[in-house]
Amino acid sequence: MIDQLIKRKINEVKPRSVFFGIEPIGLGTSYVESLSSYISRLAIYHNVPITILLNETIGPRLESTYLTDKFAKRLAPNRYYLINGISSINREFINVLEKLTGRNDIEHLTFKNWEGIFSKNIVVKHKRWCPVCLEEWRKESKPVYEPLIWLVSDIEKCEIHYSRLKEHCHNCGKKLAFIHRHSLVGHCQYCYQWLGESESSNKKEYLSKEELFLIEYYKKLLESGSKQTSFPSKSFICLVLPQIKESLKIGRVLDFAQFLDVRYHKLIDWMKNRHIPSPEALVSICQKLDCTIDELLSLSMENDILNHKCITDQGVLRKKVTKEKVYSSLLNEIKKDKPRSLGQICNELGVTSKYVYWNYPILGKKISDKYLSFKNQQDIQVHNKIKEVLEKSLKKDEPESLIKCLDDNDISYKIAKRHHPTLCQEISTRFSNYISENKRKRLEQTQSQILKVIYELNEEGIYPSVAKITQRNPGIDPNIFRQKVFNDFRKTTAIELGYELSKRR
Ligand SMILES: [Zn+2]
Ligand SMILES: [Zn+2]
Repeated sequence: MIDQLIKRKINEVKPRSVFFGIEPIGLGTSYVESLSSYISRLAIYHNVPITILLNETIGPRLESTYLTDKFAKRLAPNRYYLINGISSINREFINVLEKLTGRNDIEHLTFKNWEGIFSKNIVVKHKRWCPVCLEEWRKESKPVYEPLIWLVSDIEKCEIHYSRLKEHCHNCGKKLAFIHRHSLVGHCQYCYQWLGESESSNKKEYLSKEELFLIEYYKKLLESGSKQTSFPSKSFICLVLPQIKESLKIGRVLDFAQFLDVRYHKLIDWMKNRHIPSPEALVSICQKLDCTIDELLSLSMENDILNHKCITDQGVLRKKVTKEKVYSSLLNEIKKDKPRSLGQICNELGVTSKYVYWNYPILGKKISDKYLSFKNQQDIQVHNKIKEVLEKSLKKDEPESLIKCLDDNDISYKIAKRHHPTLCQEISTRFSNYISENKRKRLEQTQSQILKVIYELNEEGIYPSVAKITQRNPGIDPNIFRQKVFNDFRKTTAIELGYELSKRR
């Protein structure tokens, strides 16, 4: 009877999570912790190296074979930054971490829920931090962590301290990866230097109205994350734009484009749900409407657009432009040193490029041609710059990976491949040869160490077991004999020396 009771009690107990689900810092606030910071703290809390946590606990539980394969080969660290942003990687990480910690709020430590409004990733590729924030937290004995807002690529300053966010360790000068075997929140993973700095040693910078608007915009987004029950889909913008246009009583889409200060065709694309605005364009729309992102989202959800403050201001609409004004502006444009595209000029004037071609065909063509040759010139410059970077990398004594070379020079992989496929290939091949050569050297070195010990033992009539070898030379790690290549080497050498293996290990 008692046995049955105990059994029932055991069955009633909730399954225990693998990890203690420590509370993410700043949940529900604009300074919510980033997922990479949480993983680092989780490892420290459980006293395991972060790489063990990733490779042995998280890695095997990931569902995508693409990721588990990557894990088996040690996922390239420069891809880890995606876990804080929007990617299929972080969906998997979130699922696994929620299971491991028994929590259901891990998703708010990334931008994953906001993928409906972002056309691309908005997070930086390396760690970024406000040294003064870190210093203050430590002084006040508050927990040290890395908030998600520091990682938004468009935000460059801390609004609390007016200091520029740092990307390089002030001691060794290195950029820091999000996941590294020596990751420790608030410290450099290479030289272990504390990354905090006092306010007096940090230059105060000016924050423009635009910068403050941008910070406020993302703060609101992060703050509302954990309070939302549903998140916008990719069709959010095509739903909200016609409503705004109607409420502003703007009839023509061209005028609406003028009001929002975007190209006519771009606006059409958004309204027809062919594309969604870039993160920067979305900020700019909010700025034009004088609202924050969560207000814009609530507009789309509540249909309450007519009462909104931005709608009453009709003065922003420009008057219709005269033909003479168009002509003189086009003439002026031709004289400028830095040409602009006809689309951009037309957009500013509030006319279409068709209108210009119809009324001023020669002038229109001249402007287009000038811009085209300018663009070509720019393209050549980019082509040469990338070539220079790649050739320099090939001359380095120690070969580097293509990804690192491009990353260090802020060149996208796609563009580099398009301009110089052969050079890219050369760098990759050189690097992989270098790695395999290093591996071969290490292998030979270890084998000759093992061989020396086996001969010594043999002289004394001792069988070269793993225990005996490592006892004789403690510099040889016993674990290496778990690798087939070393164990086979040991065994074949023993056979050559006349030992019978069937009775021995
Ligand atoms: Zn700060
Ligand atoms: Zn350092």
